Amino acid sequence: MADSGLKPTGSKPTGSKPTVVVASNNPDKVADLLALIGDRFEVVARPPEAPETDEDQDSLEGNAIKKAQEICDFTGLAALADDTGLFVEALDGRPGVYSARYAGENASYADNVAKLLSELDEVGATEPEQRRAEFRSVIALIRPDGTGLTAEGSIGGVIVSEARGANGFGYDPVFRPDEAEGATFAELSAEDKNDLSHRARAMTALRLALEHEAG
Ligand code: IMP
Repeated sequence: MADSGLKPTGSKPTGSKPTVVVASNNPDKVADLLALIGDRFEVVARPPEAPETDEDQDSLEGNAIKKAQEICDFTGLAALADDTGLFVEALDGRPGVYSARYAGENASYADNVAKLLSELDEVGATEPEQRRAEFRSVIALIRPDGTGLTAEGSIGGVIVSEARGANGFGYDPVFRPDEAEGATFAELSAEDKNDLSHRARAMTALRLALEHEAG
């Protein structure tokens, strides 16, 4: 696993911000989440010895809550987890909740992208309007006192026929968001992706929920 650049769990808090453990061990997601919440939380890394969560729930919300709950139980700290899926209309919502293992248990990002493009070919979805898709993220924050919050974010777009761009991860090279003037997510800088992504929108919704909770 790449170094997330986060402080290890147990390190001394440096400010008055609440400490939160990011439950993901996907360095790409951790980087995205850190950019989105680092100003609000003292973010610490998931302990390497924490058990892997079996993402066996049939909804993004179920998986996000399960991941955050397990890390909260393990560390005794508030934990934040995100679960994301790409829902493609012409494929009846696939890969959806199963986006990570669409092309098989240990599928690489490239394997999943190749399977997505070939399935769209198989159903004859060649025109952009036949290739509509939506990224959806659910973020769960679970605290040691048993309280928690979830928030959702989404963005619509089109699956392009050939991968484009070198930034981002996962399905980014084939997802062209409606709001990015023709660029795929992988052609945007991390900053520009974080201005409009599903995960950023979920995070904004979570911030609002936290502000509402605080009164
Ligand atoms: P997870 O189950 O939430 O870890 O994510 C499922 C899969 O969705 C990941 O393995 C990635 O392939 C993909 N994914 C998640 N977030 C993004 C994103 O922001 N861009 C592109 N692909 C993503």
